[in-house]
Amino acid sequence: MLIEKNVSLSPFTTIKIGGTARYFASPKSLEELIYALAFARDKGLGVFVLGRGANTIFGDFDGLVLHMKAFRELKVQRSGEGFEVFAQAGTSLQELISLALKENLEGIYRLAGFPATVGGAVAMNAGAFGVETKDFLKEVFFLDWEGNLHGVRVEEIPFSYRYSPFPEWGVVVSAVFKFKRTNREVKKEYEAIRKKRKATQPLHLPTSGSTFKNPEGEYAGRLLERAGMKGFRVGDVAFSELHANFLVNLGEGKFSQVVKIIQEAKKRVFEEFGINFEEEVRLVEGGGTYGWKVSGARDIFEKRAGGP
Ligand SMILES: Cc1cc2nc3c(=O)[nH]c(=O)nc-3n(C[C@H](O)[C@H](O)[C@H](O)COP(=O)(O)OP(=O)(O)OC[C@H]3O[C@@H](n4cnc5c(N)ncnc54)[C@H](O)[C@@H]3O)c2cc1C
Repeated sequence: MLIEKNVSLSPFTTIKIGGTARYFASPKSLEELIYALAFARDKGLGVFVLGRGANTIFGDFDGLVLHMKAFRELKVQRSGEGFEVFAQAGTSLQELISLALKENLEGIYRLAGFPATVGGAVAMNAGAFGVETKDFLKEVFFLDWEGNLHGVRVEEIPFSYRYSPFPEWGVVVSAVFKFKRTNREVKKEYEAIRKKRKATQPLHLPTSGSTFKNPEGEYAGRLLERAGMKGFRVGDVAFSELHANFLVNLGEGKFSQVVKIIQEAKKRVFEEFGINFEEEVRLVEGGGTYGWKVSGARDIFEKRAGGP
């Protein structure tokens, strides 16, 4: 497997912002993935596991980016009243949604209209319109950071709102989903959801979706709007006029501009409402020894503030 050096990362994210990765690999098999993890371990590199890059914004990353795009196997099997689907981590979530539309399957079609791989949806416990990825999961297979393969049932995984223990536990390589058939026509609801997204989200611009998690009982977008952040711009990065919680790239957006605008938003929302916003988007910069240590934004802000 080719491990490339100094790879530009912006094409691998939906917001099209990025510095470079010191190392970058797209393993094509479990063996290659294990090799890449060993390579990173030997060199003491941080690892960032990358799916579609729809929730990720990169600066310069001094580690190894593991792109999961080649893990695309999909197996569909009838099971009782519904279907059981085995999907590798790099499979597009849209493929599962297409199956749901064809076979009239409950629930998952509500996740339509945003880019995601299966691995990214599991890791983020991606959700929308009252459902979350975990609702359809049966089992997850992952490689821990030492390269050992594990299979865990959904009941054993502590999922919560936009949270899973991945990639902290390791690299998701595949997942088994279970879907039930319904008598309702899901296509109509799917189309209504697509229409709603189009009207309320800046899908015509490069974006990384929601920037902050919704605090309990509130909407991050509403708080940002009330704090005057809707349309707020730093360089070529702005909070969308259409949805105050979506960052958009208006041209040549830079990671440093993303950091500035996020800091400003957090400061204003804290000053006005006493609420500490938590990033949903993954800001990745610098190094770190284990993959999961670099996947949260907090590390960056702590470092910039002179923390450890
Ligand atoms: C227009 C738009 C709308 C959106 N709307 C929504 C929405 O309604 N609801 C929602 O939940 N999200 C939404 N998002 C965000 C995004 O689509 C989801 O978070 C999605 O699940 C990210 O998947 P990904 O493959 O792009 O993950 P990436 O951005 O590549 O990675 C995200 C995180 O998952 C980890 N990860 C990725 N693959 C693996 C793996 N194989 N093993 C372990 N860890 C892994 C990464 O390390 C990172 O921490 C939206 C994004 C956009 C651009």
